[in-house]
Amino acid sequence: MKIAFIGLGNMGGGMAANQAKAGHQVLAFDLSQAALNKAKAAGCTPVGSVAEAVKDAEVVITMLPAGPHVLSVYSEQIIGAAPTSALLLDCSTIDVDTARKVAGLAGEAGYVFADAPVSGGIMAAEAGTLAFMVGCDEAQFARIETALEPMSRVTMRAGDHGTGQAAKICNNMILGINMIATCEGIALAEKLGLDPVKFFDIASKSSGQSWSVTTYYPWPGPVPTAPSNRDYDGGFATAMMLKDLKLAQDAAARSGASTPLGAQSEALFQLFERQGFGGRDFSAILQMLRGQMGDLKQG
Ligand code: NAD
Repeated sequence: MKIAFIGLGNMGGGMAANQAKAGHQVLAFDLSQAALNKAKAAGCTPVGSVAEAVKDAEVVITMLPAGPHVLSVYSEQIIGAAPTSALLLDCSTIDVDTARKVAGLAGEAGYVFADAPVSGGIMAAEAGTLAFMVGCDEAQFARIETALEPMSRVTMRAGDHGTGQAAKICNNMILGINMIATCEGIALAEKLGLDPVKFFDIASKSSGQSWSVTTYYPWPGPVPTAPSNRDYDGGFATAMMLKDLKLAQDAAARSGASTPLGAQSEALFQLFERQGFGGRDFSAILQMLRGQMGDLKQG
């Protein structure tokens, strides 16, 4: 299959490589020469423009930073330049309104489009084990699932256009709130003379249990794979969590949903980021809540 891949950054680089590994011809484009060089080394064919990448594409995949990039790349460079038979898949995390706008523009021009944001970070992108949340026409889902297969562990249809993005921001709002709740529990346990490691044993088997506790415990020790064991390096950057929480708050304001804890968690991650920790894993916010930022590397 001939695939055009636009946006070869932290996520897109690994995703494009997995499409090439699956035997597809991947015409890859990014504004960054370094990203193009990396894609070439991973078996993709770098090209000089979006137009060149999409010219004869059967599938077009985009993995771009945010809504404005997605809108301009689709409206100015993909729609009209790719054959109308091409399947258009945007895997970036963007706002629901822009996703629906792009779906409308693509649909009017005769294309099949889906919003297909991902859960899972850079390691999952490299390993081909991302979870995709898809907003698309039901009749098109099987074809979309097949196209995403080399990059995915699971692909779920959320509903019509825009609902893939809705699923992504609602899920990550729960995660942001849960992580802060977990960190507050640990900070209080410590003050009360309860060992945070012992607290893990208890909370992970009690009603305080959540993914943030059992899979991503922000105190080193109990979950060896969690970023807390490596000085909060790698993992899911605070800046990325903040981006998703902002999208959730914008969506809540627009739709009239009441999300007071989502708003609080956005404010707390914002505070943490402003102190220079946007590049640290988001579970490092524990150290801010403990008042122990002195030992934490900025970045
Ligand atoms: P990134 O900044 O590393 O990559 C984005 C790439 O897009 C860059 O290489 C940039 O040069 C390129 N780009 C920007 N404008 C372009 C244009 N007009 N034409 C071609 N290329 C262009 O970001 P990332 O971490 O790969 O994230 C991509 C998307 O995935 C974001 O929407 C992000 O929210 C989402 N996401 C990221 C993660 C993560 O852990 N990094 C996890 C899940 C979802």
